[in-house]
Amino acid sequence: MIRTRLAQLDGRRFDLVVIGGGVTGAATARDAALRGLTVLLVEKDDFAAGTSSRSSKLIHGGLRYLQTYQFGLVAESVREREKALKLAPHLTHVKPFLYLLYDGYPESAWMLNLGLTFYDVASGSPIRRRHRMLSAAQVTQREPHLRTTGLMGGGLYYDVLTDDARFTLDVAKGAANAGATLVNHAAVTGLVMEDGRARGVTIDDQLTGGSCRVHARQVVNCTGPWTDATMALEQPGGGHLRPTKGVHIVVRKSDFPLNTAVFLRSPDDNRVVWPTPSLEQDVVYIGTTDTDYTGPVDDVHPEPADIRYLLNVANHTIPSAHLTERDVVGSWAGLRPLVAPPPGVSESNTSREHEISEGPAGMLTISGGKLTTSRLMARQLVDRVEKALGHHASYRAGEVPLPGADPVQIHEVRARAEAARVPPGLVSRWVGKYGANAAGILDGYLASEANTEVIGARGLTRAELAYCVTEEMVLTLADLLIRRTSTFFWEADGGLSTVQAVADELERLVPWEPGRKQIEIEQYRRLVHQHRPAPPE
Ligand SMILES: Cc1cc2nc3c(=O)[nH]c(=O)nc-3n(C[C@H](O)[C@H](O)[C@H](O)COP(=O)(O)OP(=O)(O)OC[C@H]3O[C@@H](n4cnc5c(N)ncnc54)[C@H](O)[C@@H]3O)c2cc1C
Repeated sequence: MIRTRLAQLDGRRFDLVVIGGGVTGAATARDAALRGLTVLLVEKDDFAAGTSSRSSKLIHGGLRYLQTYQFGLVAESVREREKALKLAPHLTHVKPFLYLLYDGYPESAWMLNLGLTFYDVASGSPIRRRHRMLSAAQVTQREPHLRTTGLMGGGLYYDVLTDDARFTLDVAKGAANAGATLVNHAAVTGLVMEDGRARGVTIDDQLTGGSCRVHARQVVNCTGPWTDATMALEQPGGGHLRPTKGVHIVVRKSDFPLNTAVFLRSPDDNRVVWPTPSLEQDVVYIGTTDTDYTGPVDDVHPEPADIRYLLNVANHTIPSAHLTERDVVGSWAGLRPLVAPPPGVSESNTSREHEISEGPAGMLTISGGKLTTSRLMARQLVDRVEKALGHHASYRAGEVPLPGADPVQIHEVRARAEAARVPPGLVSRWVGKYGANAAGILDGYLASEANTEVIGARGLTRAELAYCVTEEMVLTLADLLIRRTSTFFWEADGGLSTVQAVADELERLVPWEPGRKQIEIEQYRRLVHQHRPAPPE
């Protein structure tokens, strides 16, 4: 996946311009390109830099939405989960989840059993593991450190964990493989109008300051929490969204011994919350808050009150943990791009359903939805685009696996690495993040002794870094350390102890202007500190 220079784009014509490189925009670009449309995807920061790297990292039906009788949404999401397991097996991991029942909870054992039965049936069953109701004794046998006071039992069921940023990136790669042109760190700053219709966009490069103008038969707005700002390019004013902020904190598993993700209720406001062991093994993340947000969309971060709320959840879940701010080794905050509900509906009860609307100049906007339903959202949006363009092609995005998904190729990478005596931990990490595309990292690793050197946290070698630059459009430290490798989320110091070496290597490979490296390091350090209540040195 190569970044096209803006100068090369100037004056070009596309069938479709997609604004926004989160999971919704990436899925839309992939779907449209697979239907034979010429597509440009424009992302102002990095792919998944918005909400799509700050979710709860679940591909799920959303069991808790059954409480608000959103049966359609849950059934649809469970079916999408099954689809994701087929299209991206390398990034979707089936895990057990425990829905806990304590004395005083609004849901009873029979209601939970009924809800989980609906969940099982809606999936059409390929997940092949049916839920089980557990007694309090069975729950504590499984998770001995959970609070036992008032524990009535629970329901054990299965859902899917993912790496949301990498999922988005592979969807974007799928778009590029299908012929779409992708550009990151480039913002759409205006619409090109012809006879009152949106027939293109103006784009500003966010790193070098260049700009260009591109023509399109159709423009779509997939900008998540920025939806209203993008709609304002077409028609000033009006508010379409009710964004709510969701925060997660990260703690060490050694401080918070939990093996299974659990759902329970917050001691503060009785909302459903979920501590989840990360795919990274050594940490657990706890989420999420859900509060109305009216601050700047470009600077969303956890506040001390968010951290305290989640620490209360943690200590309520495992009272012997006695966690404080000092035990929080990471955190993140994201905005749910929810469609504004009628007055009087609470944050948690605001619908997660998506909506497609058409503006006065013909721009199509999609809002709401979930990571899990992004394929379906994209399909409906591209159906509308095809209708507008009078284009008819068969739908393919539901059948073409994401790049990196091929299990035979993954097996070959593992076999080749084993024969070359590459440390097994490194190979597992690559395959877990890049699937079959780990072949590209392995090639680099085997090509030269220098490439085998580990220069960053969590086993980041020169070979992996080079792959991310040449194949995944990494242009900044944050692209690499937040979205490609997740070092920011899971490493206690966010990778600061090795940031100099990583920045030195990036400077060698990325055409940074003089002085850029120091700015990158300072910006990244600020981000790490902003997301840790007791910042590392
Ligand atoms: C706390 C939290 C937990 C969640 N958990 C889950 C979960 O577990 N499972 C699930 O299925 N869903 C979950 N969701 C929902 C899911 O994450 C979002 O619905 C999804 O990521 C939204 O993707 P998006 O592409 O619409 O928006 P975003 O990912 O925010 O992407 C929008 C993109 O548009 C870009 N952009 C904005 N303006 C411009 C411009 N002018 N020019 C170019 N680009 C622009 C932004 O930089 C951004 O990258 C969660 C959400 C939150 C907040």
